[in-house]
Amino acid sequence: MSGPIDLPGASGPHGAIDRSDAIDLRGAIDLRGAIDLHTHSSVSDGTESPAELVRAAIAAGLGTVALTDHDSTAGWQEAFDAASGTGLTVIPGMELSTNYGPASVHMLAYLFDPLNGAIIAETQRIRDGRLHRAERIVERIGKDYDLTWDDVLAQSTDGGTLGRPHIADALVAKGHVTDRSAAFQSILHWRSGYYEKYYAPSPLEGVSMIVAAGGVPVLAHPATLGRYRVIEEKAIAQLADAGLFGLEIHHRDNTEDGKVRLYELAEKYHLVVTGSSDYHGVGKPNRLGENTTAPEVLERIVAVATGTRPFRG
Ligand code: AMP
Ligand code: FE
Ligand code: FE
Ligand code: ZN
Repeated sequence: MSGPIDLPGASGPHGAIDRSDAIDLRGAIDLRGAIDLHTHSSVSDGTESPAELVRAAIAAGLGTVALTDHDSTAGWQEAFDAASGTGLTVIPGMELSTNYGPASVHMLAYLFDPLNGAIIAETQRIRDGRLHRAERIVERIGKDYDLTWDDVLAQSTDGGTLGRPHIADALVAKGHVTDRSAAFQSILHWRSGYYEKYYAPSPLEGVSMIVAAGGVPVLAHPATLGRYRVIEEKAIAQLADAGLFGLEIHHRDNTEDGKVRLYELAEKYHLVVTGSSDYHGVGKPNRLGENTTAPEVLERIVAVATGTRPFRG
């Protein structure tokens, strides 16, 4: 039997989903309970292990949680194992780093094939770049503060994706700052003189890679207040053409003005709207389930993904 699945709100370039592409949605996902599609574990810069994160998601009353560590899928299996038998649905995901000119743009990726060669190679390259960049940042900070590379390694997990949050934790442990946020506002700020960027592909390369691996790309927190303005329409149009599926509009870092504009872009380019917490354990104030995604949106994400399936615990 083949033919398009009639999904609520499905229209535009992603609307016609061919059933022969794989999916019978019945039983594939349990849409009861709140859906939070953006969280981090200690595999990147969250403070809880994937198993602890799963337990926290259940305690927070979520029905579905996506694990989206930066540039790594290393936490997926532990999250699946921890969710097994609990009724929690785990959406395997990742937050892929990309660079758009001087701006760092984060691309959420859901349900792609974790064994895809291009994904494995590119995320390895990004993680290597992050590691060496962190070493150089720490070397510079170490000239002015008592801080060594070993202090930073003590705050990270083996093989985990390294970032400024781990340097922040080391600065806290050494008593130089009170918490991660204070570190980001001072020593780790891009204007501090210690900062540097790291290698990442372009957003377009990122979207293409995710789609080629059977995954679903969603632009993370696209309207954060910061160094650069909301990504311009021309770029969104190009990404949508390449298969960008959604915009993470309900996120605490998006400005209110930015959200209004993102809604217009979502409508114009037929992109779905997601919401999520961007939980980092105690590393950020963001609480699980503080923003959520509508069940019909998750249904559409699952329907177009061919790289891997949600894990039903
Ligand atoms: P990096 O990727 O190494 O440049 O570090 C950026 C990461 O640090 C982001 O993914 C955030 O999750 C995290 N981050 C940014 N600002 C803060 C903050 N104020 N407190 C805690 N974590 C933060
Ligand atoms: Fe993070
Ligand atoms: Fe992010
Ligand atoms: Zn994040």
